[in-house]
Amino acid sequence: MLMNFLEEKILLDGAIKQGNILKIDSFLNHQIDIDIIRQIAYELKRRFKGVEVTKVLTIEASGIAIATMLGNLYDVPVVFAKKSETANSTDDKYVSQAYSFTHKKMNSVFVSRPYLQASDRVLIVDDFLADGQAALALMDLVHQAGGKVSGVGIAVEKGQQKGGKMLREMGCKLESIAIVEEMDWEKQTIQFREQPKRKLGKTNLKKK
Ligand code: 5GP
Repeated sequence: MLMNFLEEKILLDGAIKQGNILKIDSFLNHQIDIDIIRQIAYELKRRFKGVEVTKVLTIEASGIAIATMLGNLYDVPVVFAKKSETANSTDDKYVSQAYSFTHKKMNSVFVSRPYLQASDRVLIVDDFLADGQAALALMDLVHQAGGKVSGVGIAVEKGQQKGGKMLREMGCKLESIAIVEEMDWEKQTIQFREQPKRKLGKTNLKKK
């Protein structure tokens, strides 16, 4: 199987933890490998070619690096939703709820009203997609503002959890650079889902 750069990096530097957690602290969730983040951003931009994007939205904290790099490529503002245990909707902020897969608790997530507008076409990005709770909450915030979701771009989708299927069935344009099909904590093995091959256009070499 031909692997892409992110799948290769996960095999090289990732670790599988008990409870279906993939740990990629050395390049995304603690230390940030700028070259990998840059490649993730370019690949997401390529996959969303032709899609209108006026804003990139993520959730604190680990989505911010990818979102910033992508915002730089599109030259649009980047917004990160904040997490809070207590936030309620008010005149000044949009609030949604998300159950955190990694922390096993309910979080409120919010964005201050001026940072999401009805005219916005929002590309939502995150490091991981598991049950899709974070993505759904971010989509909800965009919709509360009257804006439109252009798509959801993810670095690592855990395909054995329900988020990807749910978002695709909702008709959401979802792109995940690496999709984990199976991972085994005891054996430390991981299998990725085969993805459509990147189409390369026909080009002519210069005649010598
Ligand atoms: P979801 O909301 O889709 O259930 O979970 C996505 C969120 O949980 C992501 O923002 C990510 O931070 C965290 N997450 C879920 N699964 C994993 C995992 O296997 N490894 C890490 N590092 N984070 C995860």
